[in-house]
Amino acid sequence: MGNKSILVVGGGISGLTAAVEAAEVGYEVYIVEKNPYLGGRVAQLNQYFPKLCPPNCGLEINFRRIKNNPKIHFFTQAEVTGVSGQEGDLEVRVKINPRYVNENCTACGKCVEVCPAERENDFNYGLDKTKAIYLPHIFAFPLKYVIDSRACRGKECGKCLEACAYGAIDLDMQPKEMALKVGSIVWATGWNPYDASKISYYGFGRYKNVITNVMMERLASINGPTGGRIVRPSDGKPVEKVAFVQCAGSRDENHLPYCSGICCLASLKQATYVLEQNPAAQAYIFFIDIRALGKYEDFYARVKDNPNLHLIKGKAGEITEDPETKDLIVVAEDQVTQKLMKERFDMVVLATGMVPATREARPPVEMAFDGNGFVVGGANGVYGAGCVHRPMDVASCVQDATAAALKAIQSTLGR
Ligand SMILES: Cc1cc2nc3c(=O)[nH]c(=O)nc-3n(C[C@H](O)[C@H](O)[C@H](O)COP(=O)(O)OP(=O)(O)OC[C@H]3O[C@@H](n4cnc5c(N)ncnc54)[C@H](O)[C@@H]3O)c2cc1C
Repeated sequence: MGNKSILVVGGGISGLTAAVEAAEVGYEVYIVEKNPYLGGRVAQLNQYFPKLCPPNCGLEINFRRIKNNPKIHFFTQAEVTGVSGQEGDLEVRVKINPRYVNENCTACGKCVEVCPAERENDFNYGLDKTKAIYLPHIFAFPLKYVIDSRACRGKECGKCLEACAYGAIDLDMQPKEMALKVGSIVWATGWNPYDASKISYYGFGRYKNVITNVMMERLASINGPTGGRIVRPSDGKPVEKVAFVQCAGSRDENHLPYCSGICCLASLKQATYVLEQNPAAQAYIFFIDIRALGKYEDFYARVKDNPNLHLIKGKAGEITEDPETKDLIVVAEDQVTQKLMKERFDMVVLATGMVPATREARPPVEMAFDGNGFVVGGANGVYGAGCVHRPMDVASCVQDATAAALKAIQSTLGR
């Protein structure tokens, strides 16, 4: 018999699913997550297509299953540094980075009131800042503060230490190393947004009102940088006219040669955010072809009939900025009318695709990859799950992760 423990790397929806599925049939599961919270990129979404419900409902159910299951152990701010052994009998080395906040934290927030240092808020994709001591987001699990050591002024400042009535802050915390013995591994480290600044002709990074689809999720979220008001980053004005530029870097040999499959649905969803907030607003989607596969055809049909949503078949060729107003001018050829369009917008949202996390950070264990860095299948006790395999929606990730959990279970049984 092999070792009946499973390691899950990545605590996004795929990793959480694999973990609870394996633990609920009796396996000991360890989740190693690099962020200070579980939930992955789904926690950063405003609503889920197709139902347009808040993603925290789905995550919350998984967090409850984790809290109630003594077989699941999770480590945040942790990464796998090495793997040795063979299928059924693997030894994994894990590094846990210091949180500088211990279990006594009640998330009262007194520390934030006195902290003088700031950092860019990565949860909101840089749209605002947090203090050096911060709660990653209001639904964070675990609900505990964390200190960003790159921004913190340390003991010389020490204001948070004085403000914390619970003795929860420990600036002397050190990184820890540990070894885990497991039978198999599920690798579920997900995806990163394609770097939009590489598409120079769209002006991301140069023009403040050009944002990406992941930033739009945060702008529309009640726990986002504007409390859910969709406003222009340049001047805080509510948006009246927004363009969504599809395939921003996708299906393009110079950037990502593949289609991420979810960007058309994400833009249709985000158009509903704009049009619900301001029914008089106008939303334009510039597309090559709308990809709403399978059951998502219904979602597309439901959204597209809004008279203030304009679907333009034509790839945006260039975006320029009016330096006075900071309005943006999108140039595209409408392939239906064959006319060149030059349309002015308050804001442009670039629908950038999904890049597997394994493209930039290769796992310290033998796995096979395709030319874009996606994990191909899995073997010898190490299996990919979710968006490390290919770009996927949440429902497909859940199915893929359940399959990975089953394969991982088989590996623990020995050969
Ligand atoms: C703009 C946009 C909108 C979307 N909207 C929807 C929607 O409405 N409905 C829908 O179904 N889908 C939507 N999606 C897709 C959805 O975001 C993905 O299906 C989902 O995030 C995939 O989950 P995952 O767990 O595979 O990856 P992730 O969410 O990326 O989770 C991976 C986890 O692994 C962690 N990790 C990464 N590297 C390491 C490492 N080396 N060690 C330890 N941990 C690591 C990460 O911190 C993260 O927590 C959208 C995508 C985009 C781009």
